[in-house]
Amino acid sequence: MSEPLKPGQTIGILGGGQLGRMLAMAAARLGFHVHIYEPGAKPPAGEVADLTFSAGYDDVDALERFAAGVDVVTYEFENVPADALDRIEALVPFRPNRRALAVSQDRLDEKTFLTDIGLKVAPFAAVDAGATDAAAELAQAMAKVGTPAILKTRRLGYDGKGQARINGPHEAPAAREAMGGTAAVLEGFVNFNREISVIAARGADDRIACFEPGENVHKDGILHTTTVPANIDSATRDRAFGIAGTILAALDYVGVLGVELFDTDNGLIVNEIAPRVHNSGHWTEAGAVIDQFEQHIRAVAGWPLVDPVRHSDVVMTNLIGDDLDQVPDIAAETGAMLHLYGKAEARPGRKMGHVTRVTGPAGDR
Ligand code: AMP
Repeated sequence: MSEPLKPGQTIGILGGGQLGRMLAMAAARLGFHVHIYEPGAKPPAGEVADLTFSAGYDDVDALERFAAGVDVVTYEFENVPADALDRIEALVPFRPNRRALAVSQDRLDEKTFLTDIGLKVAPFAAVDAGATDAAAELAQAMAKVGTPAILKTRRLGYDGKGQARINGPHEAPAAREAMGGTAAVLEGFVNFNREISVIAARGADDRIACFEPGENVHKDGILHTTTVPANIDSATRDRAFGIAGTILAALDYVGVLGVELFDTDNGLIVNEIAPRVHNSGHWTEAGAVIDQFEQHIRAVAGWPLVDPVRHSDVVMTNLIGDDLDQVPDIAAETGAMLHLYGKAEARPGRKMGHVTRVTGPAGDR
């Protein structure tokens, strides 16, 4: 795809959750049509898209019809199977590229990639499900990374799922049990002062644009709040931007990328990258001249990126499960931007929406 997309052309999105929904809304604002591909029933993105393909990632016929009807394909989640990508890529441009997807699908590959490009990550060791003496292998990994440590599944973990903390050797058997026999990575526990994230974008013209880092607080493994600006000095902020830029360039990336970082006494350590718009970037809707969703759509459509100037200080709070009961009060608040995802059922731990409260004009800490 060398020419930028024109309004009236169609963007395909793999995944129909809230991120897909917000991407679809941003695409519509720029005059694009949107087709969603989602195996699950009643996808939130389906309500705001032109067309929804309700089919599995193994449905070759549906994948090919989807790909044939759009001008570019992007995605809202990183676990798209490789075979499905083969089918799509044979027919239509795919952004961000497969390498970004492959690297972030697997924690071991991701950490190896980040280390190879010179970035700091927590000490880690592979714990391979196929080892003949699994207990000895985990003991060896613990000797390498130290304790406390966190055992994480290599693939398919999110919101703290597929993770078990190990405070000492006595907790190792239970942690291995919790992984259910899948390949894992053992990570040394990082004593961080705070968690921050950078939402960064790279355009088809190689230009890089980063949003101000946000400071993230998690509750029960799920993002609770993002506060912007983060409580960091300008050198740390510049370093965070540098890390994001290094990752984007190394992956020849086009689109928005989320980079989660631990801020420690010994500098920044990369926790995780997400090759997509990110929950910790939702604040951009209320705090900056462009939001992460439009920036991503611009990038994948081959449009110029917007300089993501922040105009307000903000706090974004996720509305999880029955937090939805707060909606009438929030709706009456001044300076609170409410965003609900249209999900019918509020289960515990399910992300139902978010609110971004403007706390003042943009300032420095
Ligand atoms: P993750 O799914 O890997 O992003 O982990 C979810 C959350 O668990 C992170 O945002 C941290 O709060 C915490 N966490 C994960 N890995 C580590 C680590 N190596 N050291 C300390 N805290 C961690």
